[in-house]
Amino acid sequence: MDLGIKGKRALVCASSKGLGRGCAVALAEAGVDLVLNARGAEALEATAADIRTKYNVNVETVAADVTSEDGRAKVLAVAGQVDILVTNAGGPPPGMWTDWDRADFIAALDANMLTPIALIKALVPRMMERGWGRVVNITSVSVKAPIPVLGLSNAARTGLTGYVAGTSRQVASRGVTINNLLPGLHDTDRMISLDTNASETTGKSFDDIRAEKCASIPAGRYGTADEFGATCAFICSQHAGFMIGQNVLLDGGATVSTM
Ligand code: NAP
Repeated sequence: MDLGIKGKRALVCASSKGLGRGCAVALAEAGVDLVLNARGAEALEATAADIRTKYNVNVETVAADVTSEDGRAKVLAVAGQVDILVTNAGGPPPGMWTDWDRADFIAALDANMLTPIALIKALVPRMMERGWGRVVNITSVSVKAPIPVLGLSNAARTGLTGYVAGTSRQVASRGVTINNLLPGLHDTDRMISLDTNASETTGKSFDDIRAEKCASIPAGRYGTADEFGATCAFICSQHAGFMIGQNVLLDGGATVSTM
């Protein structure tokens, strides 16, 4: 299917690896020029070089922490005017509900709620002026089904979800869509590190940990960054202009609900 976005320009945050990279690759495959971001320059440049070679699109990079004010200013300076924004960043640490104080909540809100909101506020006005834009926020399955050890993430991402629910309806008449993409378990570096940690703390093998988790997913496996990216590219396509303020869950059926 021709996604109809060849020649558009996208900012994809936190995209040297994992789900962000999957989104960047799928957009590049659709002919979209990219601004990529991550903190570490090495993996970022490697990803940019790989995408340029494979898809022949223009790729710029900004090595910066998108959750800090300075880092975000650098990202926005390079991005300039974009047609597509994919927001993403690392998730907050796990813990018990008694572990966190105000500073922990402020850090989580800054990273996973206020950063995407600041990016939306910076970039959506020009999309509205031009009558076309797409925003996809990478959030988490935890907004539909809370993950108890990820209380900081549950709280911050649900806050963003509420903001998007209202704001997406305020900008839709100007050709701009804002939607959220909710990953369940996906096979990325983050998941390797979580499963390694679970293996070390339980004494079970890495493979046994994975097999147990996959058994809890009706699809019987983890998702891939490629299929996650393909869904993101569709939401950014010309064909998805009637999709407004939705929360698209990609979890292999793991969250049991009727709707
Ligand atoms: P990942 O494989 O660890 O990749 C994270 C990417 O984001 C890397 O490119 C990393 O590069 C970059 N990054 C992290 N923090 C950043 C920051 N502050 N500023 C700029 N770039 C940053 O992680 P992932 O699995 O793709 O997860 C992406 C998001 O989805 C996370 O918020 C995660 O909590 C959420 N999520 C993932 C899953 C899953 O199953 N994978 C499920 C639910 C939710 P640098 O480290 O060099 O900055």
